[in-house]
Amino acid sequence: MDFSRVALTADEQSFQDEIRDFLDTHVTDDVRRRDRETGDNFDEAVHLAMGAAGYLEREYLPEDRGGFDRVRRRLWELEKRRVHVPWVTWGTTLIVARSVETYGSPEIRDEVMPKVMSGHVRLCLGYTEPDGGSDVATCKTRAVRDGDDWIVNGSKMFTTGAHNCQYVFLITNTDPDARKHKSLTMFLVPLDLPGIEIQPLWTVDGDRTNIVYYSNVRVPDRYRLGDVNEGWTVLRGPLDTEHGVTAPNPDGLSDVSILQHQGSFMAAVLDRVSSVVGREDVTGLRRVDDGSVAYRLGHSVARVESALSTPNMYGRVALAQAMRDVAPELMDVLGSASVLPIETDGAIDDGASGYLFRWAPLCGVYGGTLDVFRNMIAQHALGLGKPSYARSR
Ligand SMILES: Cc1cc2nc3c(=O)[nH]c(=O)nc-3n(C[C@H](O)[C@H](O)[C@H](O)COP(=O)(O)OP(=O)(O)OC[C@H]3O[C@@H](n4cnc5c(N)ncnc54)[C@H](O)[C@@H]3O)c2cc1C
Repeated sequence: MDFSRVALTADEQSFQDEIRDFLDTHVTDDVRRRDRETGDNFDEAVHLAMGAAGYLEREYLPEDRGGFDRVRRRLWELEKRRVHVPWVTWGTTLIVARSVETYGSPEIRDEVMPKVMSGHVRLCLGYTEPDGGSDVATCKTRAVRDGDDWIVNGSKMFTTGAHNCQYVFLITNTDPDARKHKSLTMFLVPLDLPGIEIQPLWTVDGDRTNIVYYSNVRVPDRYRLGDVNEGWTVLRGPLDTEHGVTAPNPDGLSDVSILQHQGSFMAAVLDRVSSVVGREDVTGLRRVDDGSVAYRLGHSVARVESALSTPNMYGRVALAQAMRDVAPELMDVLGSASVLPIETDGAIDDGASGYLFRWAPLCGVYGGTLDVFRNMIAQHALGLGKPSYARSR
């Protein structure tokens, strides 16, 4: 891993100036406020502006096909993070678009990809079901062949962004009698087909996700991705991306693990709390002069720093667990005024640590729970074998 500072060339510096200017123009306080109010984590106007400026395409494409080079890609990622661009729907779109390119027919690629690049088409993930999401292969949503179409019935939980998307990357069961990894077929289902109902679902931190019901939805076969009953092959790449199992690039120009966006938010909250406890109150006292406050803050800083620099799947677990442990510490250090939300009179840190506390449980659930990742690390990274849940005598 190369930790040296990157000296920007004149061209790279002018690219950074250009994107800072672009982001400051489009990602305004109004955008961020609206995002908090809706919980959408998506802003259509910002997204379309990025598409029109060519940034979506350059982020999607590899460098040898006209995408950003390594330094520009890193600048783009960090600048977006700095201004808090609503990000979730572009994240799911990127994952699915790669599968459309690999497994979609030429007709579907032509229908979808140019509009993904312009920002007019967004794609979401339809994996989790009401009966469970950790084991995605135990899918109950049925797709039954009917001539040139498939009839889809079932329901999916937590289809984040569905209400801002045009297609869902849907796991279906096309052979209930087969072994589970041989029973799946993937579709890119247009979300405006008759029989699809999207219901909102808000999480404890105020994010919006959805329950999506599929009732006798007629999906033309051309929307199938990959072969019938070979959905697991189509899914593996997207699941690996979402799980963050791939190693960081050794040039130091990529996140060392997934969830770094969440991690940098946590670090910013920590900075804010540090500045609050370092301030004198009306009696001239500073919270940080209390040894227990200084200890808890110092301990939190160490936890966050180590989590931020932990790579791969380990980093994912370290960040989500650190967030769960650090957020209540920060709220304790600040006292009861930390429960007041952002832009409320008297909110001691403008709602930052309280928000972190509500966000933390979700970061250890979406894309796979902490328990599941701990098992994956034990089994696949440490070679400890499959867990046995049999009761010992
Ligand atoms: C905010 C949010 C956004 C999401 N967005 C999406 C999305 O866009 N698309 C989508 O398809 N899904 C999405 N999800 C769903 C998410 O991927 C699932 O919640 C997650 O995979 C866990 O599935 P589950 O909730 O059904 O829990 P279950 O799988 O029912 O698990 C229940 C409990 O059992 C534990 N458990 C299960 N299996 C194991 C195991 N093998 N070893 C040890 N413990 C285990 C789990 O840790 C958990 O505590 C989202 C979830 C949230 C909270």
